[in-house]
Amino acid sequence: MPVDSNNEDFISFALPCIGEEEIGAVVATMRSGWLTTGPKTQAFEQAFAEAVGARHALAVNSATGGLHLAMEAAGIGKDDLVLTPTWTFTATAEVTRYLGGHPVFVDVEQDTLNIDVSKLEQRIIELRREHGAKLKAIAPVHFAGQACEMDVIMKLAEAYGLAVIEDAAHAFPTSVVSRSVHDGERCRRMIGTVGHASVFSFYATKTIATGEGGMVTTDDPRLAERVRLMRLHGISRDVWNRYTSTKPSWYYEVVAPGYKYNLTDIASSIGLEQLAKAQGFQVRREAIRHRYDAAFANHPVLEMPIQRHASDVHAWHLYVLRLNLERLSIDREQFIREMAQRGVGCSVHFIPLHLQPYWRERYNLDPAMFPIASREFERVVSLPIYPGMDDNMVKRVINVALEIATRFQV
Ligand SMILES: *Cc1c(COP(=O)(O)O)cnc(C)c1O
Repeated sequence: MPVDSNNEDFISFALPCIGEEEIGAVVATMRSGWLTTGPKTQAFEQAFAEAVGARHALAVNSATGGLHLAMEAAGIGKDDLVLTPTWTFTATAEVTRYLGGHPVFVDVEQDTLNIDVSKLEQRIIELRREHGAKLKAIAPVHFAGQACEMDVIMKLAEAYGLAVIEDAAHAFPTSVVSRSVHDGERCRRMIGTVGHASVFSFYATKTIATGEGGMVTTDDPRLAERVRLMRLHGISRDVWNRYTSTKPSWYYEVVAPGYKYNLTDIASSIGLEQLAKAQGFQVRREAIRHRYDAAFANHPVLEMPIQRHASDVHAWHLYVLRLNLERLSIDREQFIREMAQRGVGCSVHFIPLHLQPYWRERYNLDPAMFPIASREFERVVSLPIYPGMDDNMVKRVINVALEIATRFQV
């Protein structure tokens, strides 16, 4: 814990941006008498589908649950393989294990820290040769809110018959110029409309927050139906609806061993208000990013994050600095400690999965297999970037980072 995190002036690494609108919406929902999944969730799904331009949006109680459902709906099962970047949160990979499958970890690109598409086709060919049709899917992660090279990924998916299940936990709102699985036209699209399914997170620290929550978007009606069925105990609404006229209201049919991943109306009422503010939040985060970039541009110790395509919209969920360790007498850990001592909370995204005990031991992984992720991990620092930061706070983060970088520069 930061030494003076009790200090009122301490700048937290992340804070949800909750206003009177969200508070009022929760109170109204509580007064309505409908607490669990109901009209608010339906409205949230509809509004989210419209916001990204997807045909279907299915609310779930976490992105982890949503990834599990999307993988299940895409047919991932026992001993199936899913290409996954090592540079991600464990949820992206663990859902494959829930289904008895195996993630196959891939290194990342030096500039974006997204899955390295230049290594992907070679890997697919090798895996195909060794495992045949067991290779089923790619799970790209739009790290920090910057879209992966979706054109390349979609082309490979098409060529090799793979499903693309995107971890879009950081990527709302993100847009990219790309084709989609359903439409060959290359044009600007929101993440949420490119792959077979995309999964967003509304965890407390994400770009819009409901505490816990998530959303699965897809244009595929079959995939949407399966997710809808499995998120609530495998109770079939179609069967239910078909019989409502003739069966009593208590009647339902269980057609599969589903899960319990539905989102509550309390969370959805927060989500509706957050969604209305999402564009403004992104503008503020991007403004903070520009302030950071301008301040760090010429410092020999601080390397700014790179936006590869100026035409993309980057959600800027994270601002990930890289320390030039060759010019610094301290390591990343001490840098973060120095920041905390001066009242600024920082974090690290991510500890690559190949370094985590479970993944390392389960799949015999070695840092040498992921040279870029292994090297970059040593020098990444995530700075605070959220709409609740005023200009003074941004200036303080800048001053503190520059002071430490200069003081320990060699
Ligand atoms: C936060 C996060 C998740 C998990 O989201 P939850 O809604 O907490 O389940 C998955 N993937 C990435 C990359 C994340 O950052």
